[in-house]
Amino acid sequence: MEAKQLQTLKQNNTLLCQFIVKLSAFYEGFSDKIDTELKILRGHLSGSPNFSLAAVSIEKLNKSLQHQEITLRKYSVDTVSSLEDAMKQLQKIVFEDEDLKGLTTQELIKLNQPVGDIFSIYKLYSKAIALHRIALNKNMIGLEPTNTVESSTCEQEGSPTHSLKDHNPHYRSILVELNHLIASYAQKKPNDQQLNDIKLRLDEGMDEDQLLKSCVVILRMIVQDAMSEASLTGKVIQSLHRSLGEVSNDVSTTIEDSQAQFEQRKVSNEQLKRHINDIEETMSESESLESLKEQTQLRVEKLMETLSEQQDNDQQGQEALMALLSSMQSRIDTLQQQTSVYKKKLAEQAIQSRTDPLTRLPNRQAYNEKLEAAFNHFKANGELLAVAVVDIDHFKSINDRFGHAAGDKTLQVVSKFLKQSLSDNDFIARWGGEEFVMLLPQAKMVDIDKKLNEVKTKLAAMPFKFKQEKVKITASFGATSFDDNDTTETVFERADEYLYKAKRNGRNLVVTDLSTDL
Ligand code: GH3
Ligand code: MG
Ligand code: MG
Repeated sequence: MEAKQLQTLKQNNTLLCQFIVKLSAFYEGFSDKIDTELKILRGHLSGSPNFSLAAVSIEKLNKSLQHQEITLRKYSVDTVSSLEDAMKQLQKIVFEDEDLKGLTTQELIKLNQPVGDIFSIYKLYSKAIALHRIALNKNMIGLEPTNTVESSTCEQEGSPTHSLKDHNPHYRSILVELNHLIASYAQKKPNDQQLNDIKLRLDEGMDEDQLLKSCVVILRMIVQDAMSEASLTGKVIQSLHRSLGEVSNDVSTTIEDSQAQFEQRKVSNEQLKRHINDIEETMSESESLESLKEQTQLRVEKLMETLSEQQDNDQQGQEALMALLSSMQSRIDTLQQQTSVYKKKLAEQAIQSRTDPLTRLPNRQAYNEKLEAAFNHFKANGELLAVAVVDIDHFKSINDRFGHAAGDKTLQVVSKFLKQSLSDNDFIARWGGEEFVMLLPQAKMVDIDKKLNEVKTKLAAMPFKFKQEKVKITASFGATSFDDNDTTETVFERADEYLYKAKRNGRNLVVTDLSTDL
């Protein structure tokens, strides 16, 4: 071999030794055993290399590397499968969220492809952590949005309860129910600011707290509505109050609970954030592959623990809330039923309070109300309107001769007869005692005069029999029309005046505006 050739070979040898030394330095940190052996190899190859000792070292290293390669492959498989588990769990949580579901599916597909090296595992880790972050952000306020995954796919803020609101059927049905209630009350109170606000917010979407508060507002309206119809006391009102009180308490407790839950979530978030940071730090600072593996596994386990704890808490909170909302819904139903029963009772009472119990004719109060409406109508439209008063003649003698019960019976029969004698437009009430009052709209006095005379004659012809004795019952009538200067009082006074004229002129008589001869 020429000297020149030998020189080149030496130079190449030195170059190769230097390269191996550098390469071994680069791989330091792979494992303690390999590190020690690499140090020895470097010692043999630096300065004036000792190749026979280096060959021994290389032999040992080969064995260690072979073993390490198997460990590394197993580590990769384990890591990928734990990532896979994490992604599957995440996919369950975000099942309803199309965007996140899509992203996790993509990740799962990637995880099923062969993993080349430790760096590609790192990438998969980053992506998985980023997806967890997005999923958490969707349910929480307080965690910074991440930039690792396209942020356009996630809603970052302002809707902490979207998952609940969007996916819970109870929530929807309560919203619908509330909408119905509001629609019925909005008709009654079109200018009510509070109602309009709730309506607007219902359209825009509400979180649980707002929904609960709105339920209470509506319940209060139902109760106020029921109360305003009359000042009735009693069981119904008490039970309405009690129910409302219960609902109010429940709502404030739930709002407090959900606030407490929110605080808990914030703490949980902080923990998760810490876990994630720890994993990231471990990734960048870890000195050896073994400790990297151990620490990351530990971190991932902790991360999972916190995630599932949080999931449990959230679920418990949601279940409690939904139970409350459902019970509130049934309370609203009960309240509505109670209110409608109560309204029915009120309506019945209103009728009773305007009806004379003996004759079943409207009483004086009903007459006064009817008169006022008819008078307003007369004032506004100038349509004809007349008032007639009727008094049974010598009624006292019926009581005296045949007893009070006979008097009562007579009142009932005469009432029925008078009522039947009038047309549907006419109105008759018992004024008191054996006196009646009639409102006769849209009729000329000549017709009224004629009609009352017919009634008078028919009544006189009616066969009454008490204690085997035939008795003739007659009545006297006074009727007058409203004119422009009249008030309800002046008309009544005039009709009453006519009635007395009829009494004075022998009874069983009709006196009207037309009776100029009396
Ligand atoms: P006149 O022809 O002048 O009207 O004589 P009258 O007897 O009908 O009039 P008066 O006012 O003297 O007597 C009315 C009587 O009607 C007196 C009262 O006892 C009787 N009465 C009033 N309300 C009732 C009632 O609900 N039932 C019975 N049975 N009698 C009644
Ligand atoms: Mg009388
Ligand atoms: Mg009388």
